[in-house]
Amino acid sequence: MTGIAKTVAQVRELIAKARADGKSIGFVPTMGALHEGHLTLIRRARAECGHVVASIFVNPTQFAPGADFEKYPRDLSSDAAKAQAAGADLIFAPAVEEIYPPGDNTFVEVTGQLVDCLCGPHRPGHFRGVTTVCARLFNIVQADRAYFGEKDYQQLLVIKQMVRDLRFPLEIVPVPTVREPDGLAMSSRNAYLSPEERKAAAVLSRGLFAARDRFAAGERDAGALIAAAKRVIETEPQVKLQYLELRDAETLEELKRVDRRAVLALAAFVGQTRLIDNVIL
Ligand code: AMP
Repeated sequence: MTGIAKTVAQVRELIAKARADGKSIGFVPTMGALHEGHLTLIRRARAECGHVVASIFVNPTQFAPGADFEKYPRDLSSDAAKAQAAGADLIFAPAVEEIYPPGDNTFVEVTGQLVDCLCGPHRPGHFRGVTTVCARLFNIVQADRAYFGEKDYQQLLVIKQMVRDLRFPLEIVPVPTVREPDGLAMSSRNAYLSPEERKAAAVLSRGLFAARDRFAAGERDAGALIAAAKRVIETEPQVKLQYLELRDAETLEELKRVDRRAVLALAAFVGQTRLIDNVIL
């Protein structure tokens, strides 16, 4: 039976027990509204770790004022059942005050190129909120390995940088993006889409895949690869690109030619809903 711990004290005690039993700790941080993407992370942790902790915490500090923090989908009992079925041993579902005790005054912020491009300028304070909550969760859970999806590719790099810089004794394990049958990257925010928008949203991955096909056929020019993706995406009037950029897959420096591992990343509005996706070249 998977337990649900709501306080830092409870979760620390249960994890200490697993440690005392000689188990390695795998950690999957989520904001809930669990889908196959999250469950794939949990299954991977299950396969690689003795004790799997999944957190479900809608982190207020990574939402802009007036963004979807209030209406973000929340269903703890359904999420706990799904996480358990995927192999989680322990769910950590804290109240906001457990993670942000009243009077707290500490943030963790990665600076530089990794946060100054792609989603960074469009979501001021977002990555600072992500690194702050992850630093706090990492300190609480003290896992050996933490699992992050490549769907949020920039977030993955930012977290890796933080873990390196702050010397967390923790391995960050990237997990490939899980997609719907029509290619749309799974996301809790897909639930906001109307049926028409949901259909239109598939054009995002189709565009990225078109560029990936051009790359496989030998194209290395960034402009040509971006144009190949845009040609597909711009056929859909319900989809408005915010950015579509080709960058070095480690440093996020902009690339003119793909002469090393690269990421083609986009953000787009489908109606009112902002979605992100990427492919690695
Ligand atoms: P979230 O609940 O959206 O904060 O996501 C929690 C974790 O699940 C993050 O590491 C995400 O990158 C990962 N994740 C979300 N969607 C997917 C997906 N479609 N495929 C793989 N990982 C995902």
